[in-house]
Amino acid sequence: MKQKIHAKFVELFGEGGQQYASAGRINLIGEHTDYNGGYVFPGAIDCGIVAEIKPNGTSKVRAYSLDYGEAAEFGLEEADKPAQAWACYVFGVCRETIKRGGKVAGFDTVFAGDVPLGAGLSSSAALESTFAFAINEINGNGIDKFELARIGQSTEHNYCGVMCGIMDQFASIFGKQDSLIRLNCKTMEYKYFPFKPEGYRLVLIDSCVKHELASSAYNKRRASCENAAAAIAKRHPEVEFLSDAKRLWLDEVREEIPEEDFLRAEYVIGEVQRVLDVCDALERGDYETVGEMMYQTHFGLSRLYEVSCEELDFLNKLARKMEVTGSRVMGGGFGGCTINLVKDELYEPFIAAAKKQFAEKFGHEPKIYDVVISDGARKL
Ligand code: ADP
Ligand code: MG
Repeated sequence: MKQKIHAKFVELFGEGGQQYASAGRINLIGEHTDYNGGYVFPGAIDCGIVAEIKPNGTSKVRAYSLDYGEAAEFGLEEADKPAQAWACYVFGVCRETIKRGGKVAGFDTVFAGDVPLGAGLSSSAALESTFAFAINEINGNGIDKFELARIGQSTEHNYCGVMCGIMDQFASIFGKQDSLIRLNCKTMEYKYFPFKPEGYRLVLIDSCVKHELASSAYNKRRASCENAAAAIAKRHPEVEFLSDAKRLWLDEVREEIPEEDFLRAEYVIGEVQRVLDVCDALERGDYETVGEMMYQTHFGLSRLYEVSCEELDFLNKLARKMEVTGSRVMGGGFGGCTINLVKDELYEPFIAAAKKQFAEKFGHEPKIYDVVISDGARKL
């Protein structure tokens, strides 16, 4: 990929530039916890975006997307927003850098990637983080890493119409080989934990379905969580977010809130604890416990939070039956991928069975993505 990018860069712009890269991400555990002020536990993966960049001495950006085979040229004023969706990510990063007082000199770029689009691995964050990191370095802006992640997030909000949280861009910027990062979504404190599962593989199985319910259900889940948190806060004023509540405190208000809200809250409070348990287990190198927690998360997402679907439950059940170490739905739910921690010797039979049995039941094969926890944004 790097060579192809370089060849195209030379063809279009003459002399070569400097290459930068960033990554997609997985989240091992900590789902639907971000808006409850809880923990997420993501890591960058070994697929991402690579961009070759060189200042061009003008006030314009000339960009070429190798994967789309398309060029875009745009200025750096707010009115210069390009027509192509992919170019809006690059433009947005430039604009958000400028809004923070950073300098953005015009540049030429060719880029490409290998994160599957829209599969839940955040190809968009990989793209934003690559350019946020590169532009910061090239222009000597000295913007700190957290703010670089915020540049990506604001790009999604202000230029791409996606109201996302900070996790994807955070993971893509801060990601480190063999490490997952526990991020406290309330305080923004973070800590690296070792993730080097020797003898296991991490594999995503993409159901390739996306059920329509997702956005309305998301808003309903949020409302349930806020309602439960508010009920608990009447007795325990220190509770600002649901993740601040102890399990016992939830039991105290059981009669005061709808049963549905209780179940949603039960999941969230359990999930916050599971992230902590997984971190402890990783410090001991205990991947069996990690896997068990993944199954518990899946159960919670399916039965208490009710954001799974038939396809994902099917994949999870198959994993359990074949004694795969850990498996759960990853992401918001109602489709997308399961993330699986699989012993080396079980990998081939498990993937073969998943493909065959899923296809028999649902009429199409799932997609398989092997991932390794790797570095995030960097200069190559
Ligand atoms: P994801 O879940 O993968 O982040 P999004 O819909 O948020 O899905 O982002 C996908 C969009 O990001 C694409 O439609 C495209 O505009 C841009 N993008 C991602 N990867 C590439 C790439 N390799 N080349 C060009 N654009 C890309
Ligand atoms: Mg995205």
